[in-house]
Amino acid sequence: MWIKIIRPDAVLVWRDPEVSRRLKWYRSVMLSRSPAKFMIVRSLKAPDNFRELSEKELWRIHDELHLEAEEKIKENFEKGINEEKLKPAEPSYLDVKIELSKRILKRCRFCEWRCEVDRTKGQKGVCRLTDKVYVASFFHHHGEEAPLIGTEGQGGSGTIFFVSCNFNCIFCQNWDISHPREKLESAGIEVDAKKLALIARKLRVDGAANINYVGGEPTPNLRAIIESLKYLDVNVPILWNSNMYLTIESMKLLLDLVDIWLPDFKYWSNECARRLSNVRGKIGYREAVTRNLLLAAEHGDMIIRHLVLPNHLECDTKPILKWISENLRDKVLVNIMDQYRPDYLVLAHPEKYPDIARSLTTEEIQEAYRYADELGIVYRPIS
Ligand code: SF4
Repeated sequence: MWIKIIRPDAVLVWRDPEVSRRLKWYRSVMLSRSPAKFMIVRSLKAPDNFRELSEKELWRIHDELHLEAEEKIKENFEKGINEEKLKPAEPSYLDVKIELSKRILKRCRFCEWRCEVDRTKGQKGVCRLTDKVYVASFFHHHGEEAPLIGTEGQGGSGTIFFVSCNFNCIFCQNWDISHPREKLESAGIEVDAKKLALIARKLRVDGAANINYVGGEPTPNLRAIIESLKYLDVNVPILWNSNMYLTIESMKLLLDLVDIWLPDFKYWSNECARRLSNVRGKIGYREAVTRNLLLAAEHGDMIIRHLVLPNHLECDTKPILKWISENLRDKVLVNIMDQYRPDYLVLAHPEKYPDIARSLTTEEIQEAYRYADELGIVYRPIS
């Protein structure tokens, strides 16, 4: 028997004027008062010969259409779905994005590792994925932040968990899908773009407030995710739940497709990012993530997550909160997460990682909240 779970805070949260203001586009799509951005993107006509163009020329067309999409997104706020005006164009701006994502996959530059391997020929980079996509599970997630699980009548966040990750966090709680001990394919089922669209459709039809792409990490699967939007025939907000170590190219592909960003801002110190998550790509963790957060917040709604780690208040938590207060304080919501528990490699070898081999103390949690209050960061109503 299907039991509908209603979390009272999922309704009450929208009474907070700051939540409603900062997430106004997302809420409007969630309630189908506005079309999701992907519907607008695929309604814009692209040149018929776009597949014959060089990557450089394709980006020029992409960037021109991006400006058009931005205008149309503004126009469509709270206008409801106009089937006629949103009829998919053939070929469309979305087709240009799909083509670009296929070319990136051939010399993979989806994330800042920039492995440049040809994944279409079976080559693998740091994430160990070829061009195959594996979904570990998908379901209506009722444990996400209050604005993400829907108001009355909706059934949680429609979360799709992808296998594999471009990070290797030694405390990962999803290590069985991020870094399965056996082959990657043993941790999920293989899907293509059409199957991914069917999964998203089913989640929305069954009441999901949004489609929440997560993992592991969704970034290595960008080509299939973008292509799936060509086949998705329901209006639903697209939520990007990510470590945000994306390249500028991936960001450009996503900026006018994502309705709400859910970035995980883990570290301020690049040394912590290297030691605890093995982030050693072409540019530093902090440089990539802060750049991408600024870009994303300029183009969409956002809830930033930060998991407080024991003994990392001074090197990570406080500078992160300070940066948010100086750069994004009036634009985003923040979820300061206090549920850290040792897991994965930390649990197996606590002697190797003594700084994070325990849970947080009450003093550490309170100090993180006190500091956020002092900076005027909005975080309390959503978690
Ligand atoms: S997604 Fe990132 S880690 Fe994976 S192959 Fe591409 S650049 Fe490398």
